[in-house]
Amino acid sequence: MVQAERLYLVLLGVPGAGKGTQASLLEDALAIPQISTGDLFRYNLKNQTELGVLAKSYMDRGDLVPDEVTIRMVEERLQREDCAKGAIFDGFPRNLAQAVALDQLTAVHGGIRRVLLISLEDDEAMRRITGRRVCRTCGAVYHVDFNPPKVEGVCDLDGGELYQRDDDKPETVRNRLFVYYKQTAPLVGYYFAKGLLTEVDGSQPIETVQAALLAALRDAAAVGG
Ligand SMILES: [Zn+2]
Repeated sequence: MVQAERLYLVLLGVPGAGKGTQASLLEDALAIPQISTGDLFRYNLKNQTELGVLAKSYMDRGDLVPDEVTIRMVEERLQREDCAKGAIFDGFPRNLAQAVALDQLTAVHGGIRRVLLISLEDDEAMRRITGRRVCRTCGAVYHVDFNPPKVEGVCDLDGGELYQRDDDKPETVRNRLFVYYKQTAPLVGYYFAKGLLTEVDGSQPIETVQAALLAALRDAAAVGG
């Protein structure tokens, strides 16, 4: 039996496409929470929940956390008060098994309403991520092309040294792209076949992408206004 419908949205796109940024903006625009698996893992590990302890047991062995554990974290998150009107998924589902599980988790509230694919060429994704520099002192984030510090390698705010995180190194980014194409890209076809997919050009400025996403949701009658 289907209960009151909820606005469940999924954001897809390569690393660097701007999913997290756009999900935060959508969270404000639509007044439903952004759910990122990164945040979920941090929360469960920090609070040593049953699922956090279980996840850590895999991570300590150097193993991947099984889909089932991630899915249970999402299930638990969806039951909280702030998800009463829906949620924006960022970084989940990551593969077909998770997508099928998410369909089951959300079915009672009408399922996934819309999937927003933020498209970006690989070389642009690479340029965006590998250009990031972070201050060792205050954590401020710069970009060598788009948001450079006044003095190369030095934080404007406190003079701290800027460095490149391991996650942002070319070799790591290439691997993240590879994993995306192998595991996550099949979801594009999966959601397209369900008639749920909308693609937006992620190479545009942040505000333009956001406006296009909101317009796409209105066109799909996923949101009012
Ligand atoms: Zn700094």
